[in-house]
Amino acid sequence: MIDLRSDTVTLPSQEMKAFMMNAALGDDVLGDEPTVQELEQLAADIFGKEAALFCPSGTMTNQIAINVQTNPGDELICHEESHIYRYEGGGIARLSGVSTRFIGGNQGRIDPSLLEGQINPDDIHYPKTTLICLEDTANRGGGTFYNFDDILNIKAFAKKNNLKLHLDGARVFNALTENGIDIKTYAKPFDSISVCLSKGLGAPVGSLLLGSSEMMYHARRTRKVFGGGMRQSGILAAAGIYALKQNVDRLKDDHKAAKQIALIFNAQPWVKEVSPVQTNIVMVHCHDNIDAQQVCDKLKTLDVLAMSLGKGSIRLVTHLGITQENIEQLKTKITQIT
Ligand SMILES: *Cc1c(COP(=O)(O)O)cnc(C)c1O
Repeated sequence: MIDLRSDTVTLPSQEMKAFMMNAALGDDVLGDEPTVQELEQLAADIFGKEAALFCPSGTMTNQIAINVQTNPGDELICHEESHIYRYEGGGIARLSGVSTRFIGGNQGRIDPSLLEGQINPDDIHYPKTTLICLEDTANRGGGTFYNFDDILNIKAFAKKNNLKLHLDGARVFNALTENGIDIKTYAKPFDSISVCLSKGLGAPVGSLLLGSSEMMYHARRTRKVFGGGMRQSGILAAAGIYALKQNVDRLKDDHKAAKQIALIFNAQPWVKEVSPVQTNIVMVHCHDNIDAQQVCDKLKTLDVLAMSLGKGSIRLVTHLGITQENIEQLKTKITQIT
């Protein structure tokens, strides 16, 4: 099976599993899980942040970041296509009692020039604006990454208005692979960063939240309330350590594979266009008379899995489970779709 539905489908390698089996374990809720602590320290060092917190999912790290940097009744700012708003079960409102204001921009990225005038004045009629959330790479944007100057401009705006800045960095290493920015320099403008270990990095479970020691103190309490306090979670954290050490450099191969897949689809007569590939996500747009779901169903009979996004669009995501041989196979299989 050539599974291109998402980079969440990655399976742990034999080496990763062996590393997990040998992890030293403790009880993280009681504060003595050595492997979780090692992972949190490693991540904090990599990003140049004071502290980190290991959580079961990216949804949890994002929602904790929102929870600890807002008060009920506040408003946060994000792009309308953002994962925190669309795909986290309404957690912003449900878990934190916070309302949302959308800012437009190109393919999932906030345009800094549109921020002006979007902060509520200090007036009892309005919710208090307290947080801006960015997503890099932008999932629904098709894996687009931010221009670092835009991030700096957004940070300057946030600072001027006394707002915190959170990064949903589920795929931040894909962004860093392409943007050429030193990782600590990149991380600096953000008060908090969430990073997924279970996407392109290939761990089975896990996400990290990064920020100040003080923020992580509050985040640890919130994680417990959200039901994310885990015990011998070092067995999972070990996979994260392995992923951060072994699976970051190879992300460039996924980006190369995504470009190859884009070329393959672009050559098909039923394809109208393929969005320019920036990282590991390929967005294929079919001609008007083509049903994207039917194409995906047909692909499935050929042992290729892709995701229909409706409106004639198909998403394919590359990851460490996709080989060059798979790409060659895809070239042949695709000709059977008409
Ligand atoms: C996957 C993802 C998350 C977190 O998802 P989980 O499935 O909860 O780990 C958050 N943000 C973005 C942009 C994502 O793609």
